[in-house]
Amino acid sequence: MSNTAFSSLKIHADLLKNLTSLGYEHMTPIQARSLPDILAGKDVIAQGKTGSGKTAAFGLGLLQKLDVKVHAVQSLVLCPTRELADQVAKEIRRLARSVSNIKVLTLCGGMPFGPQVGSLEHGAHIVVGTPGRIEDHLSRGTMRLNRVNTLVLDEADRMLEMGFQASLDNIVNQIPKWRQTLLFSATFPDQIKSISRRIMLKPVMVQVESTH
Ligand code: ADP
Ligand code: MG
Repeated sequence: MSNTAFSSLKIHADLLKNLTSLGYEHMTPIQARSLPDILAGKDVIAQGKTGSGKTAAFGLGLLQKLDVKVHAVQSLVLCPTRELADQVAKEIRRLARSVSNIKVLTLCGGMPFGPQVGSLEHGAHIVVGTPGRIEDHLSRGTMRLNRVNTLVLDEADRMLEMGFQASLDNIVNQIPKWRQTLLFSATFPDQIKSISRRIMLKPVMVQVESTH
């Protein structure tokens, strides 16, 4: 049986201590099955229902690699909607409470550009956003993704259903090939298989049915 204690993972002591203070004692099944590979730097496709704890799985992966001293976007998390992006950013901020000066920025449509550009100029380590708005920032030249080491597609099935495929390809093309790519989805239709073949390198598959 695998060990489900967060302390069995190779993660920074301050992140671990913070998990305890958040009341996270044991990994959820999807976390236990995906985190060792995520922390080893592998590309991972993880399929699990809503509420299974997918955010902390990728959140811990990107936080473990993050260098606060590097003033560039190091992680990009793409979500289908503003509501989901806000939730993800909130959870990443909670997970990152123990890391000082970390900047998590949300970039979604329906919000004015000006303040987003201002925040980008101030520097962001982690960007969470919707594909359309991220693409807009790239085409306007207000954001660069050349230092991104972790790309996350969260709720990838929904993003594809919403017609974001071309946007995703366009964004991914601007991220270094040496990145780690993590893809999370509640379902695993053919569209996901085909995008994963295009943008991921030998992905490890993790499927978890139950949330407990
Ligand atoms: P998903 O993205 O799979 O739908 P979330 O990442 O939003 O799920 O997590 C669902 C809830 O479970 C969140 O409120 C989160 O804070 C909580 N959670 C995640 N992992 C753990 C854990 N290991 N222990 C306790 N609570 C957790
Ligand atoms: Mg989620």
